[in-house]
Amino acid sequence: MDNPFAPPGHDHASCVLSALDAAEAVCARRGERLTPLRRRVLELVWRGHRPVGAYDLLAMLQHERGRVAPPTVYRALDFLCEQGLVHRLDSLQAFIGCGQAADHQDGREDGRHRAHFLICRDCGIAVEVRDGQLDGAISHLAGRAGFAISDETIELSGRCADCQNEWIMGA
Ligand SMILES: [Zn+2]
Ligand SMILES: [Zn+2]
Ligand SMILES: [Zn+2]
Repeated sequence: MDNPFAPPGHDHASCVLSALDAAEAVCARRGERLTPLRRRVLELVWRGHRPVGAYDLLAMLQHERGRVAPPTVYRALDFLCEQGLVHRLDSLQAFIGCGQAADHQDGREDGRHRAHFLICRDCGIAVEVRDGQLDGAISHLAGRAGFAISDETIELSGRCADCQNEWIMGA
């Protein structure tokens, strides 16, 4: 299996374009509006594969547009999270774009979906992963307890393969 933290031939400009296209499609399907501001916030979240904090996003927007009130950014982030276009990582208090927004909806009304992340503590990259067996095990566990899951974000933190190598090499 390829290292998902450093996929070969990764073309980030096309990551961003396909995320924006998927966002337009998802919003159109649900009758939601991807306003220019929401779209721009999504694009800023997607500037890389490292989670971004709300304050950093606010600073980037203020740099572009002058005065921007913090609630404007929070509301845009709330919207993007509700639509499953962005995930909030509680352990980092930061946001990351979802590369699978158009595919995963888990049959829910809104766009939120189960999201499982591997987060590298060294390079800061977070990768969303999906495993049918894990999904099944969690559904089974919750079902047995009669528990209805409303938010399922799992954050596993550690070190990616490249960062472990650097550690070994003493770099
Ligand atoms: Zn990318
Ligand atoms: Zn996702
Ligand atoms: Zn790493």
